[in-house]
This record gives sequence, structure tokens and C-alpha cells, in this order.
Amino acid sequence: MYHGAQDGWIEVVSGVMFSGKSEELLRRVRRALIAKKSVQVFKSHLDDRYGGVFQVSSHDGHEIDALPVSSSVQIAEQIRPESQVVAIDEAQFLDDGIVSVVNALADRGVRVIVAGTDMDFRGEPFGPMSKLLAIAERIDKLHAICVVCGDLASRNQRLIDGKPAPAEGPTIQVGGSESYEARCRRCHEVPLVDRQQTELTIASSGPSEAS
Ligand code: ADP
Ligand code: ZN
Repeated sequence: MYHGAQDGWIEVVSGVMFSGKSEELLRRVRRALIAKKSVQVFKSHLDDRYGGVFQVSSHDGHEIDALPVSSSVQIAEQIRPESQVVAIDEAQFLDDGIVSVVNALADRGVRVIVAGTDMDFRGEPFGPMSKLLAIAERIDKLHAICVVCGDLASRNQRLIDGKPAPAEGPTIQVGGSESYEARCRRCHEVPLVDRQQTELTIASSGPSEAS
């Protein structure tokens, strides 16, 4: 299975916030260290509220830090030639350049593990995640628990002052007063300030003629 992969490839761990993506990334990194692989961990640090920078230690006392980065170029510049495993957390905040960086790494035999939330608070693809999911050899989509109904959660609910945030807000809001919850499709709420306009767009696009 993929934990024993000798050749380069790309694994994506995606899903809603609180679904355990960082825990899973850390678990894979720890096992790679047990296998005595040369490992590098990067973490996009655009918004620290999505989780703190972590430190991974293996049983033999070897420790590695997640290097904070804000662009795909910063990752490319810091890759060591001897690295066999490269892990990247919070990849949704990175630019599209990350797609060619991870492809180039996998092409030269590196096992690349990417974690990131696949949808923004509106339920739309987040940053480069849809492209990363498309080019990966293996993808895992994790779920959290919907805090409203207890079902499996797949959506990121943005709240401002405890109320669902409108769709018009920025995708990445740094330093704002909002908070996030994991919710299922049914409990996910994205109020539209300009609802009339959107309903018109949906009506005019209609079902496709080919179907
Ligand atoms: P992610 O990287 O996907 O945001 P983390 O690995 O940081 O997730 O955190 C996962 C942990 O969050 C779980 O093990 C659990 O303890 C906790 N948690 C908090 N809220 C929820 C929730 N609504 N559903 C599931 N786990 C939750
Ligand atoms: Zn629900």
C-alpha cells in the first residue's frame, strides 16, 4: 500500500476543518521517520487560527519542525536534495504554483503528502486543492462531526458573532472576528445578501441540453 511506496507519488488528505487532516498527516510523517526516511514538513501559515505549527518527534528522539511558508516558491527553495518524503499542511492557502512543485517532486521520486481543506466556507473548491486532488495518485477525504445534528460533516461553516456569514465575504479572512464549525450539507448555511441575482443566474443556466 501507499505507506510502502518506493517511487514518487502524491497523496492528498482533504476534508472539512476538524476532520483530522493534520493528525493524519502527522501520523504518516511519524511512520516515514520510523522507516528512516529523510522527511521535510511545510505548513502554510497564512492564518494561524487554522491550527498551530507542529513539531514531530520520532521514538529515537529525532525531531523535525514544520517550516512555515506562504508560497509555493518558498517550498521549492527549501527542498533538500536528499528529501524522500515531503509533507505540506494547510495547502488550501497556497498558490496554484504548488501543483507543478509537487508534480516535479513526485517525478523525481519523492513521496509527497498534502493536507488541506477542500472547500471554502461557501462550499466551493478552495485554492489549489481541486487541482491537487485531480493529480494525486491517492486521495482520502476525511469527515468531522456536524456540530448541529451529529451527522458526518463535510462543510466549513463560517460564523460572525455566532451567525452564519454571508457568501460575499472574502475566502481568506485574516485577523477577523469570525469562527468556524464543521457541519453537514443540510446544516451548512451561506446566506446571500444578493440572493435575487444568484437565483436568476441559476434559473438561466438551467439543465444542460445534453442530459
Ligand atoms: P484538521 O487538520 O482536519 O482541521 P485536526 O487534525 O487539527 O483537524 O483536528 C482533529 C481533531 O479535532 C479531532 O481529533 C477532534 O478531537 C477535534 N474536533 C473538534 N471539533 C470536532 C468536530 N466537530 N468533529 C470531529 N472532531 C472534532
Ligand atoms: Zn448536520
